[in-house]
Amino acid sequence: MYSKDILSEKLVDVVIRLAVGFRVRNFRLKASSSGFEEVVYRTLEYSSKRLVRISGGQTYCGLCGRGPYTRKGMYLHLLRVHKYEIKNIVREELEDLESAGRT
Ligand SMILES: [Zn+2]
Repeated sequence: MYSKDILSEKLVDVVIRLAVGFRVRNFRLKASSSGFEEVVYRTLEYSSKRLVRISGGQTYCGLCGRGPYTRKGMYLHLLRVHKYEIKNIVREELEDLESAGRT
């Protein structure tokens, strides 16, 4: 199983793609249990919703409010400006969901 640090690093790009509405191709998880896989998918879902804000049909950054951006511009902005922030968001979500699942 991945360590959470490596896993969140790997998930950053996937989360950003989901957030801007790009197709995520060939994303397969080598998880050892289906319970863990579920946690990862929910992490992706929750985290991606926090990255983008839609207002008046325009796309703005959910983290710093800049925009509007095109899909591609949004993708590049998130990756260049917020990569580490997003990694932390993913990591926190993973930890929250995992500890919630344990109780
Ligand atoms: Zn931003």
